[in-house]
Amino acid sequence: MDASALDEEKTESSPALPTRRRSDAADSVRVLKPRRAAPADAVRPTRAEVNLAALRHNLRVIARHAGRAKVWPVLKADGYGHGAPAVARTLERAGAEGFCVALLEEAVELRDAGVGAPVLVMGGYYGGAYEEIVSRGLVPVVYDLSHLEGLARASRQVGRPVDAHLKIDTGMARLGVRMRDLESFAGELGRFPEVRISGLMTHLACAEAPPGSEGEGFTAEQVTRFEEATARLARAGVSPPVRHAANSAAVLRGEALFDAVRPGVAIFGVSPLGPGGHGELRPAMRVRSEIVDLRTIDAGEPVGYGGLFRATRATRIATLPMGYADGLSRHLSNRGQVLVRGVRAPIVGAVSMDMSMIDVTDVPGVGLHDEVTVLGAPEGSSQGRDALSAESIAAQAGSIAWEVLTSISRRVPRFYREP
Ligand SMILES: *Cc1c(COP(=O)(O)O)cnc(C)c1O
Repeated sequence: MDASALDEEKTESSPALPTRRRSDAADSVRVLKPRRAAPADAVRPTRAEVNLAALRHNLRVIARHAGRAKVWPVLKADGYGHGAPAVARTLERAGAEGFCVALLEEAVELRDAGVGAPVLVMGGYYGGAYEEIVSRGLVPVVYDLSHLEGLARASRQVGRPVDAHLKIDTGMARLGVRMRDLESFAGELGRFPEVRISGLMTHLACAEAPPGSEGEGFTAEQVTRFEEATARLARAGVSPPVRHAANSAAVLRGEALFDAVRPGVAIFGVSPLGPGGHGELRPAMRVRSEIVDLRTIDAGEPVGYGGLFRATRATRIATLPMGYADGLSRHLSNRGQVLVRGVRAPIVGAVSMDMSMIDVTDVPGVGLHDEVTVLGAPEGSSQGRDALSAESIAAQAGSIAWEVLTSISRRVPRFYREP
C-alpha cells in the first residue's frame, strides 16, 4: 500500500475552537468548518483513496468539451465526498479558474485551505453572514431582495464593493428570480450600487435526458428562456459579462456552454449520461476495506439482523468493517456486490450500521485481511480488470451516482494519491 496521506486534514480532526480572528466582533454570525476523519485517525482498514491525477485528467477532458467556456468545478458536499480542500488545491494548480459550492461554510473552508480562485456560493442561504462573504472575497448568488440588502450593508461595513451572480429560474422551480419578476428585480438593483451583478446563471433540470427525449426538449426551452432573460435584463440596464448554465451532462453534450460551465460529478470521473456514457472520464475515488472476520455457516443458518439472508449451502461468510453509517447504503442489503481477489462477492443479509457481511464461498483462496473493494477498481493488476462504478452501485441501490459518492461519510478517512 503506497497511499500517502497529504496530512493536510489533520488539524481538522481537533475540536473546532473559535480561534479565527475577526475584524467584526460585533457580528455574532460565525461559519464553522465541517470536520471529517483524518488519515491519522484511521484505525480500521476502511478508507477512501482519491487519485489526484484522475481529477486533473477529468478537468482536461471537460475543458476540451467546454471549448472557450471557463471551467468552474463544483465542489459542494465536500467535493462530492472526495474532500473539497485537497480537490480544490489540486484543480487550482491544474488551471481551474474558479469553483462553485452550495454552502457558505463550504466556501469558507476553501478559503481557509488557501484557495485563492473565485468561489461562487450557489445555495443562496447566507444566514446573515454577509460580512463573511465580502471580507473573504466570495461571490454569492442572489435572487432575493434580502440578499441585496444584506450584501449592501456588509459592503459598506467592510468598505469594498461585492460581485454577485444573479440566478434566474428558467424551469427548475428551485431557486432564482422568476421570469415574470425580472424587470422589477432589475429595478431594485439600482438601490444597491454596492452590489455589482457580474454574472447571470440558471440551472438545468433535465440535462441528463437522452437525445430525442422530452427532457432534451426541456433543456432547449430553458436555454431559450435564459436568452430571453438576458435580453430583458440588458434592456433594464443589467448586462453582466459572464453567463453560465451547464452542469456535467450539458458540458459533455456540448449544450448551454455560454461563458463558463459548472461540472460536478464529471470532475470526479462519473458520467452523468449513465453507465458507459463517457469512457474518457476516470473515476477518482476508490473505497476499500478488509475482511476482519471469516466463518463457515451451515445450510439453513441466517445472517445478520432480521435473518434477511439464509444460507442454502455451507457458506463462507466474511465480515467487513463498513456499514450504512459509512455510506454503504442499506438498500444494498442482500443485493449489492463487492470485489475480493477480483471476484464479485454478494452482500448477504442486512447492511448494518458499522459492518456488513459478504458471501465469499466462491472466492478461491480467500483469507482474513484480504482487501475488499467496495467502490472503484481493486489495487494491482493481479486482481483483474473488474471494477464497481458509482453508477452501477447506484443502480443496485435504487439511487444515483451523485448520492453514492456524497454518502461516503466523514467516518471514512480520505487518502490522497499522486501516482
Ligand atoms: C450540483 C450543481 C451543479 C453540478 O451538477 P453535476 O450534475 O454534478 O455536474 C451545477 N450547478 C448547480 C446549481 C448545482 O447545484
